[in-house]
Amino acid sequence: MTNSNEVQLIRTACPAHCGIDCCGILAHVKGDKVVKLEPAEFPIPNDKRICLRGLSSLDITYHPDRLKYPMKRVGKRGEGKFERISWDKAFEIISEKFKSISKEYGWKSIGWVLGGPGAGTTKFGAYLRLVSLTQSTRVSAWGYGDAGIPCGSRIVFGSQFPYIYLFGTFWQRNWPDLLIVWGSNPAETAPLQTMRKILDAKEKGTQLVVIDPRFTVTASKADVFVGLKPGTDSALALGLMNVIFNRGLQNERFIRNETNGAFLVRTDNGKFLRGKDIGEKKVNAFIIWDENSDTPKVLRRSTLKTASIKGEYEVNGIKCKTALQLLIDLTKEYPPNKTAEITGVSADLITKLGEKIGTSENAIFFTWMGFTRTYYGDISLRGLASVASITGHLSTSFSSGYIPAVLNWDPFLKAIPDKPSFHRLGILNLYNAVILEKPYPIKALWFAFINFLNQCVDCNKIINEFFPKLDFIVQTELFMTPTAKYADILLPVSTFLEFSDFLPHPYPYLQLQQKVINPLYESKSDVDIVAGLAEKLGFGEYFKGGEDAMIDLIMDNPSLGDYTRDKLSKEAMLLRALPEGGKFPLTFSTPSGKIELYAEQLVEDGQALPVYLPPIEAPISKKNQKFPIAFIQGHSRFRTHSMFANVKTLLDINPEPIVDINPVNAQERNIKMADMVTIFNDRGKTTLKARLSEAVNQGVIDITEGWWLNQFREGSVNHLTHDIINPVQNKIYEPNMHMNDVAVEIIKYKEVEE
Ligand code: SF4
Repeated sequence: MTNSNEVQLIRTACPAHCGIDCCGILAHVKGDKVVKLEPAEFPIPNDKRICLRGLSSLDITYHPDRLKYPMKRVGKRGEGKFERISWDKAFEIISEKFKSISKEYGWKSIGWVLGGPGAGTTKFGAYLRLVSLTQSTRVSAWGYGDAGIPCGSRIVFGSQFPYIYLFGTFWQRNWPDLLIVWGSNPAETAPLQTMRKILDAKEKGTQLVVIDPRFTVTASKADVFVGLKPGTDSALALGLMNVIFNRGLQNERFIRNETNGAFLVRTDNGKFLRGKDIGEKKVNAFIIWDENSDTPKVLRRSTLKTASIKGEYEVNGIKCKTALQLLIDLTKEYPPNKTAEITGVSADLITKLGEKIGTSENAIFFTWMGFTRTYYGDISLRGLASVASITGHLSTSFSSGYIPAVLNWDPFLKAIPDKPSFHRLGILNLYNAVILEKPYPIKALWFAFINFLNQCVDCNKIINEFFPKLDFIVQTELFMTPTAKYADILLPVSTFLEFSDFLPHPYPYLQLQQKVINPLYESKSDVDIVAGLAEKLGFGEYFKGGEDAMIDLIMDNPSLGDYTRDKLSKEAMLLRALPEGGKFPLTFSTPSGKIELYAEQLVEDGQALPVYLPPIEAPISKKNQKFPIAFIQGHSRFRTHSMFANVKTLLDINPEPIVDINPVNAQERNIKMADMVTIFNDRGKTTLKARLSEAVNQGVIDITEGWWLNQFREGSVNHLTHDIINPVQNKIYEPNMHMNDVAVEIIKYKEVEE
C-alpha cells in the first residue's frame, strides 16, 4: 500500500487461526510487500505475544502454491484439473446454477458450509447476510467436533457456553487454589492467552491437575497428571462425586440454592413431581420436601430455604426422591475401585482428587472441545459440571471488570427484518441431507473456511457417496486442498493481510484486522466474493461499500459508541471498565431455571442423570478383538486444523504425520520406532510413520489431526472415523462428530503388502 522503499508499520491482528487469541501483529511493509511480522503492542503489555503460526503467516501469503485466479473444473471431480475463468464468468456460472437448482428444489437445497472463520466477523457475516437474503441453508460447523460442549452445557446450564460458569473468576486473575484442566491441551492449542494465565496462576501457588488420555505438553506442567482411558470422563466424574458424597464434602447450600437437587422426582416415571400431583393450583409448579414441617411444598424462594436435598418421600401415594438423592444413588455404583477399572486411573488417585476438590476453597475446572469428541461427549461435560456444582465451584455472577461490547449481528442474521431468514442444518446432518435427501435434499454446496474432505468424518463416504450426489460444489480457498480438488468452481480468497475485518478479541480488546497489502494475484476477500455473487442474484445493494461498510455495520451498536474503525486502525482498544465491584448475575435458562443435576427432558433417553455410557466404538470397556485399539486425534501446535500443513518453515520442524503408540502395544506387533505402519478398520485405512511413546496409554494410539490427505502414505485420520449421529445431541443442539470414539487395529506396513 506504499510505493516507497521505506518500511511502513501497519497494525493488524491474527484472526485467531487458533481459536480466539487474536494476537496483535505489526506488519513491516516495504513497497507492496510485507517483509516481516512481529507481535504488536496491547494496552496491557503482557498481552503482546505471537506464536509460530502467526509468525508463519507470511509463508501463507507468499506461498508459491496459492490459488491465483478463479477456475472451473475440467477433469473429473477429485482429479484437480481446472481451467482459468474470469470472476465475472465465475459469478455468472454460480448464479445460473443456483437459480436452476433452486427452481427445482427450492433455495433451501443450497447449503453454505461455513467452517472455522476464526474471530473474523464480517467475512463470516457477509455469507450469513446472503444466505439470509436467499433463504438458503446455513450448515453449522459446530458439529465438526465442537457440538458436544454446547449440547451438554445447554442441558446443565441452559447456555451453550459453559465457560463463564466454570471458570468465570479465572479470567479476573482470581487465581484458584486448585485448577483442573480436563481433556484439554491449551499449551498447544491456546498457548498465549489461556496457557499463559494457567502458568501465571501456577506461579502464584495454584495446584495444577491435568486429566487427559495423553501426557500432553500441558500435562508436563501439572502437579498431578490423571491419565484416563478416552471416553471414560463421565465415569471418572461419578467416581469423584462418590468420594465427595461419602466424605460429606458437598456444598449443600450451593446445591439447594443454585441447582435442582432439591426438586422431588417421581420414582415411577422419572418426572418431577408437579403441583397437579398434590392438588396445587399451580399445576406445573415444582415440589420440594420441607424439612421443618415434614411436608411437600411448592417450590418458592421462601420454601427453598428449608428444602430437603436428600432422601426418599411419599406424597399422595407417589414415591419420590430428591434429584440429588438420585445422583447420590448413581454415584454409589462408582466407588473408587470400580471407577479405577473403567477409567484406568488408580483408586488412590481418584480418592485423593475427590477429597482435594471437596476441600478446596476455590477450584476451577477448565475444559474445551476435545473431551466431548466421543459419542457421549455431552455427558462428559455434564459429569464435569456436576462435580463443580455439588462442590459449589461455579460462578453464579460474573465480572470481567469490563463492559461487554454487543455487535450488530441482526442485519447479517436476518437481512430483511420482516422476511424469514436462513434454514439451519448441522454439519453431521448434512451427510444424510446430501446422501439420503433427509430431512430435505441438499443439491449444491458452497464451502468457505473449511477443508471439508480433510477434516470431516469418514473420507471414503464423502468421496464415494457424498460428493457424487451433489449437483454443484463451490469452494473458496487459498490452496488446492484435498477438498478443493472436488470443486466445480474454485475461487481464490485473500489472506488476512489482504483484507480488513473487525475482531472482538482477545477479550477484553477490540481490534481491527487491517488490510496491509492489496490482494495478491486475482484473489478477493470473502466480502468481495459474496458481493460479486449477490450482484448477479439481485442483492447487490446489501453489500455496497465492501469490507469497510460491513465493519461499520457490525459496529453499529450503542455499546460500541466510542470505538470506531478509524481509532481501531491505530491501536487495540480496551473495553470500558465496569464500575468497581460491578457484576452480572448469571442465570440458568434451563427448564427448571436452575443448574440441572437432573434433566427431566432426557428421562426417555435414559440420560436424566449424567450416567456413564461406554464409548460407542472405542474398545474401552468391552473387548473388540477385531479392532482392539482406541484411536484419538490430538491437536498440534504447528497447525490449526489443516491450516499451515503446507508451510515450509513449520514442515522443517514437524515434517510428516506420526502415530504415537505405546511401546507395549508396539512390541506386541513387532513395530519399532520410525517403522511405517498401517492403521485400519472396516471404514478405511491409513499408512504413516510410528513413534513409540509412553505419552499414550496402552490400548490407545494418537495422530494429530490436520495433516492433508496427500501427506500420508495412504488414507488419512478421517478414513477411520464414522458419522454416527447421537440422537440426544440431535435433539438438544446438533450432533457432534466423534473423532475420539474410534476402534482400529495397527500393523507394520510391510505385513499389509505381503
Ligand atoms: S496464538 Fe493464535 S492468534 Fe496468536 S499468532 Fe498464534 S494462531 Fe494467531
